[in-house]
Amino acid sequence: MVVPNCAQLGVFLDDAVAWQRDGTSASLVRLITAPWSGVEHDVGAAYAALGRRGVSILETIERGRLSAPPDQREQLLRFARNARRVRELSTERDDAAVRAAVADIFGLGTVAAEEPPPYGVPADEEFVLADPREPEPSAPIPPWRHHFSASSLNTYAECARKWFYKYACGAIEDPASSAGVYGKALHVALEDFHGEFPRPRRGDEAAMRRRIRECVNWAFNASRDGFATAVEFALQVRRAQRTAQRYVDWLIVQAKEAPFVVLGREVAASLEMDGRPFVGYIDRLDRDEISGGVRVVDYKTGHIAMSASEYCEKVRRFRDFQLPFYYWARTAEGDRVTKLVLIPLKDALLDVRPIVLDVVPRGGPNTRDEACGTIGTDELERSRTRMMELSDKLASGTMHHCEPTKESEACTYCAYALACVQRPAQKARRFGS
Ligand code: SF4
Repeated sequence: MVVPNCAQLGVFLDDAVAWQRDGTSASLVRLITAPWSGVEHDVGAAYAALGRRGVSILETIERGRLSAPPDQREQLLRFARNARRVRELSTERDDAAVRAAVADIFGLGTVAAEEPPPYGVPADEEFVLADPREPEPSAPIPPWRHHFSASSLNTYAECARKWFYKYACGAIEDPASSAGVYGKALHVALEDFHGEFPRPRRGDEAAMRRRIRECVNWAFNASRDGFATAVEFALQVRRAQRTAQRYVDWLIVQAKEAPFVVLGREVAASLEMDGRPFVGYIDRLDRDEISGGVRVVDYKTGHIAMSASEYCEKVRRFRDFQLPFYYWARTAEGDRVTKLVLIPLKDALLDVRPIVLDVVPRGGPNTRDEACGTIGTDELERSRTRMMELSDKLASGTMHHCEPTKESEACTYCAYALACVQRPAQKARRFGS
């Protein structure tokens, strides 16, 4: 078999050469998410997320730390074996020899290095236009056969076309932005921190401040490759350290006014809804030491609703499924979930002011601009019904079209904007008045 000289494969081979040379997790992350890795896209993406957080991908696979069905496990083990073989190739081989060996190891056949590219001509020959391609006949979007997640449905709710690119096509995304790396590193730091301080106490203030500083340093150093420059890395670490100290300020107030104990961190949430599997991870689960109720906590390092009423409105308009899904997943596990909490950790200059929603039987209006409010189980039930409707639709195999959003703000940081010719025009930017 001769492998076609396609650009995507070239990128895969370049990444494999980088992995063979430097052995960094950044190159391994790119390898496992490539279509040539032999690993299903969403499975590869899940391991890539762990890799970006400093977890060893190969060790996690080889020790079977995450459960996977037998066919996926076989794919992962084969990938791990191949990756180790690539890493063990002699460092004296030149790039072309490593590329050929990688193609052999991954069963890609002979790399068509000598073949002319399918389009275009060498520089010294006359330029000839290729014939236009016949459009492919229209066909429905293949049914989604994997698990669902609240974040995939959030993507669909934000822009159906984006869901199509990201999930149905498994199109390759840009490397994670520094904002994404920042968020993941801070999540890891807090996860470690609460492993040591599950029950924050005022008397532990000095120890908590010291430990959280160490956790932030460790987590950001493990994600160092995700930042483009040393300056950006240093600035983001400083920002995270300031935010972490404000977070401890908030913990100390909580320890006095509403003491809690952390029951779990990065808790796997899985739920079957109408026969369809949904999965996710809950940042933190707490038990309120006064009421005994369980609260679901989600850290937010990006844009977040500024008030309880704003977040509830997103749930009512089916634009956010995250906390409703966690609520149902934990309720199915037998927890009495009494609060849903979003903790904003974006702005290092502001006090930490969580959005706290008490779960009540019937939803009603929340006071505008207040951080605390209520959310009704009737609203959570409607959200669950909508999740099932959407998953039915995405798994139906009858969808022919995924509409681009009409809200141009969604396109600002979209990784698929270049490919998306039907995206709405951006609103004119205003730099002053
Ligand atoms: S560019 Fe805009 S319309 Fe296109 S996929 Fe991205 S968010 Fe959707």
